[in-house]
Amino acid sequence: EGTISVKELSDKLKKPVTEVIRELIFVGVMAGINQEIDFETAEKLCKKFDVQAIEKEEEEGAVEEDTDLEEDINGVKRSPIITVMGHVDHGKTSLLDAIKQTDVTSTEAGGITQHIGAYTVKVNNETLTFLDTPGHEAFTAMRARGAKITDIVILVVAADDGIMPQTVEAINHCKAAEVPMIIAINKMDKVGANPDRVKQELTEHGLVAEDWGGDVICVPVSAHTREGLEQLLEMVVLSSEMMELKADPDRNAKGTVVEARLDKGRGPVATLLVQNGTLKVGDSIYVGTTYGRIRAMFNDKGEKIKEAGPSMPAEILGLSDVPSSGERFVVAKDEKTARARADKKAESIRQEKFQKSHKVSLEDLYSQI
Ligand code: GDP
Ligand code: MG
Repeated sequence: EGTISVKELSDKLKKPVTEVIRELIFVGVMAGINQEIDFETAEKLCKKFDVQAIEKEEEEGAVEEDTDLEEDINGVKRSPIITVMGHVDHGKTSLLDAIKQTDVTSTEAGGITQHIGAYTVKVNNETLTFLDTPGHEAFTAMRARGAKITDIVILVVAADDGIMPQTVEAINHCKAAEVPMIIAINKMDKVGANPDRVKQELTEHGLVAEDWGGDVICVPVSAHTREGLEQLLEMVVLSSEMMELKADPDRNAKGTVVEARLDKGRGPVATLLVQNGTLKVGDSIYVGTTYGRIRAMFNDKGEKIKEAGPSMPAEILGLSDVPSSGERFVVAKDEKTARARADKKAESIRQEKFQKSHKVSLEDLYSQI
């Protein structure tokens, strides 16, 4: 839907700005002169002035609506996005690091993988995208914002320790979100490693291993000796192929913030995970109350890139502020629109807070002006 600034609206109505602002208060909107208001509000106001408001048709594909991030049935194949979960000290970080080292492309480039919160690994001819953020945090953010940012979960269970409270928590998260799990039975190199005990405990949570007649893939691995890593990654590829994940690279990009921080020299830096479309340098995006034009983009190897397609993480520069991880970003037709979207979001947050804190009648407010 389109927006119009208070100033533009007053010009169109040929009414003084103060009068427009006053009338806006009566319809419950506190707005400044440069603020963008939505069509619905503008329409209400026009009615008061006996003017009929007609919404301009948005140009084709001008603004991507931030609706769902469901599979694009007309799209092409995209890589799976994988999160590693599991109980503390069962080896999530070690496993992620070991997986990172299987990528020849990163060793060719000097073996330096930048920490940007997500990375890609090539297995045979397939690309896998791993989220580096702890799975629990990713899930909390996902649940808070209703965004789906993982296709497959690798659940790490230490072979010498078995199912623990956070393992159960992870299983429940995955079941609730309907995300398939692949079990990595880790620390197989340790004395006392007992994969059968892990499988036994899994059955208590409704998960039956394949070799026990069920459909849950369990791969014995060791992050230390790298035993089973290749097989684990092959299983991930196989599972993702069965899921037939799709996206449309020709659309404007949208996706999720993986992590973000303020860099002293470069300003706000954010890692975005593109979930549909292609993100390009020069694109204007909005994310929550933040917006900006992408000034530069880098991949997980720290290389400068011009675009990032579906399932690709990219570190970007150019945002007005630091967004929160888990927030969704959308490409707008231009920076002005992106800013208007961000401002609108900020305004709705302000109003929500305002309405919560002061339950003052609009008439009371009017008399204060
Ligand atoms: P996280 O808390 O799940 O991220 O676990 P970490 O990756 O930090 O690992 C916890 C401890 O287990 C560390 O001391 C690791 O060195 C150790 N560890 C992780 N994977 C293995 C493994 O495959 N074999 C052995 N022997 N130790 C492991
Ligand atoms: Mg860790």
